[in-house]
Amino acid sequence: MTYFISEAGKGLIEDAAKYCRQYVDSVSASWDRGERHPSQAVAKMQELGYPMLTLPEELGGLGITPVDVAAVLERIAYADAGLAVSLAGNALAVKAVMMAGNQAQKEEVAKILAEGGIGAFCLTESQAGSDAFNIQSKALPEEEGDGYVLNGTKLFVTNGSIADFYCVAVLEGEAELPSLFLIRKGTEGLKIGAEEEKMGLRSCSTSSIILDNCHVGADALLDKENHTRDADLPENRLELTGTRAIMGALIEGRLWISAVAAGVAQRALDEAVAYAKERIQFDQPIAEQQATRMKLAEMKIKTEAIRTLSGRGLKLMEQGEDFEEAASIAKAFAAEAVLDVTNKAMEIFGGYGYTKAYPVEKLMRDARAFSIVEGTTEVQKLVIASMLLKRKEW
Ligand SMILES: Cc1cc2nc3c(=O)[nH]c(=O)nc-3n(C[C@H](O)[C@H](O)[C@H](O)COP(=O)(O)OP(=O)(O)OC[C@H]3O[C@@H](n4cnc5c(N)ncnc54)[C@H](O)[C@@H]3O)c2cc1C
Repeated sequence: MTYFISEAGKGLIEDAAKYCRQYVDSVSASWDRGERHPSQAVAKMQELGYPMLTLPEELGGLGITPVDVAAVLERIAYADAGLAVSLAGNALAVKAVMMAGNQAQKEEVAKILAEGGIGAFCLTESQAGSDAFNIQSKALPEEEGDGYVLNGTKLFVTNGSIADFYCVAVLEGEAELPSLFLIRKGTEGLKIGAEEEKMGLRSCSTSSIILDNCHVGADALLDKENHTRDADLPENRLELTGTRAIMGALIEGRLWISAVAAGVAQRALDEAVAYAKERIQFDQPIAEQQATRMKLAEMKIKTEAIRTLSGRGLKLMEQGEDFEEAASIAKAFAAEAVLDVTNKAMEIFGGYGYTKAYPVEKLMRDARAFSIVEGTTEVQKLVIASMLLKRKEW
């Protein structure tokens, strides 16, 4: 994607590389093993403003293109995928607020980010995974006051334990589709569950969020303008601002996850090339074996293909065109391709690749998440097939 990256983007990638060299490279493996906590690197990442990557320029964002954003995410993922997934999770929350919020709510989030904060997007529930709108969390009017009382449990929340603001999908009253609420860290009744013990992405917080009689003001409802208690709800509930914003955030987020996958694939490729040149078997480097060369070439093709398919979606996004299908295609491909690339890296490393002495087993475990987060590969294929068949619903 280097040929699409702007001059500003190139500078940001260099800055990201410096950040990774200083705060990530030497400690990422120890975070993965649970020996150290990534708090210092996460705090620095926030202080450097990486959670503002997707913030619109008029609210203090950098004004860079989607390709530039993806390239920065890719560079951070190259060093540690968990950190990049943390940024992708934050981007979901930022996008949802930008789509559904009024000016005051957008400015509130921009201020939190400018002060070094980070967000979390809370949609998934026990019975609402792929069936994402099948949620049960409720927002009911306060008996006294004009706010709401929220109850429910959100699962698998990226940045769950570290976020400064939460963008939470709940059913307002008797509604069948979700609305979004903006809740600040520390709000009474917003409780953080235990950290998930994950297979990979271990530098990234993933936890449940419990809404236990959580009282919020009327101004916490993100789609207030179109969805007041008194107003008639639109006939087509998908037109609700909050519901549209959830979809908008997820569609965009699929391209950020594809960028993260590109970073992991590139790292696996670079590790494999270096090792293949060094490892001597049968009196010569294994890189001299044609079988190894075929693998390296296939890894390179897939890594470039992840970037190319993501780049298409990112360009459509930049041009303001519909990129839903492109995003699903890019993510479905990236999730499968990065697993193949990391698997081939492990083959090239032989037995050593299966140990924690080298980074490839971590890359493979990190890569496994990309076919799950922000919609499974099956869900992406359902989206693609629905569009092929010219049916929006599936
Ligand atoms: C590391 C990580 C971070 C996450 N971060 C967030 C976050 O920040 N916010 C958030 O809200 N959620 C988050 N999630 C949740 C994630 O979005 C869900 O896990 C995902 O959407 C799948 O839901 P599920 O786990 O309930 O699986 P299920 O929906 O139960 O799916 C199980 C299997 O059935 C398949 N399946 C389900 N329905 C169909 C169908 N109709 N056709 C074909 N196959 C089907 C799925 O593809 C999958 O293979 C995160 C998850 C992980 C692992």
